Amino acid sequence: MKLPIGPNAGDYCHPDLAKLLISRPLIDDYDLSGAEHLNTDVLVIGGGGAGAAAALSATEAGARVIMANKLRIGDSNTVMAEGGIQAAVGAEDSLQQHFDDTVKGGHNVGKKELVAQMVTDAPSAIRWLIGLGMTFDLTNGADSNGMLSRKRAGGTTVPRILSYRDFTGLEMMRVLREAVELDENITQLNRHPAIELLSDEHGRCVGAILYDWKNALWCWCTPKPWYWQPAAAEGCICRVSPLPTTTAQPQTAW
Ligand SMILES: Cc1cc2nc3c(=O)[nH]c(=O)nc-3n(C[C@H](O)[C@H](O)[C@H](O)COP(=O)(O)OP(=O)(O)OC[C@H]3O[C@@H](n4cnc5c(N)ncnc54)[C@H](O)[C@@H]3O)c2cc1C
Repeated sequence: MKLPIGPNAGDYCHPDLAKLLISRPLIDDYDLSGAEHLNTDVLVIGGGGAGAAAALSATEAGARVIMANKLRIGDSNTVMAEGGIQAAVGAEDSLQQHFDDTVKGGHNVGKKELVAQMVTDAPSAIRWLIGLGMTFDLTNGADSNGMLSRKRAGGTTVPRILSYRDFTGLEMMRVLREAVELDENITQLNRHPAIELLSDEHGRCVGAILYDWKNALWCWCTPKPWYWQPAAAEGCICRVSPLPTTTAQPQTAW
């Protein structure tokens, strides 16, 4: 069916997805009366690899963070990643080759500026993870000098995959979880799925409504700059319905 509203209005969409995208919010305005209001500099929704890295990067930049986890930090796809991570760190490799392989592997439909950013950031992301304590497989042999072991992946012109045994994601999440838990500027709200995003009159996301599963309560969280502007916060309305990848129904989330 065709989507009737939203930025993708007019696009064709699977009816089940469309039903979620155009659905009414799960809660009404009155549900929020008296709900606890949390404020913070940065709100991170989801504690997988991306969320944990975002939270740590935000506190490195001096921000206070609230991390809302559907369950707990690390209950995520990240822990299931086995194969490894690509980064152009080999002497015979280059950022240009990594970029070319990625664009080609994506049949030329990937956004080139995003691919370029990812490829450029990859070596420093690996260094950052090693700094946090992540272990990677090293090459064997007397001459290896403990260099990072690199495997070849389909579609790559040189070996570029860095891994740790067959549980790279689990090892990555181990160090990210430790770093988040040791960081005093990150407040973790476990079992607090975001069930609606808040938007202002310009359609910008200004926060989220979280469901406190244990106490069966809603709370709402607005990060800077809105939290210190009561007038702007008052203008927030529930507008964005959850996507299927988020917790549409808290009772059935895993
Ligand atoms: C079996 C498997 C093998 C893979 N192998 C590789 C590999 O070898 N190399 C590779 O690069 N990639 C691999 N991937 C893909 C990779 O794991 C993911 O792309 C990556 O982990 C995504 O990270 P993320 O932090 O964005 O998402 P996730 O790790 O999924 O984290 C998302 C987090 O958000 C939480 N969340 C979701 N909705 C809400 C909500 N409404 N409120 C609060 N929290 C919410 C979830 O519970 C979860 O904790 C693999 C994936 C799988 C499943």
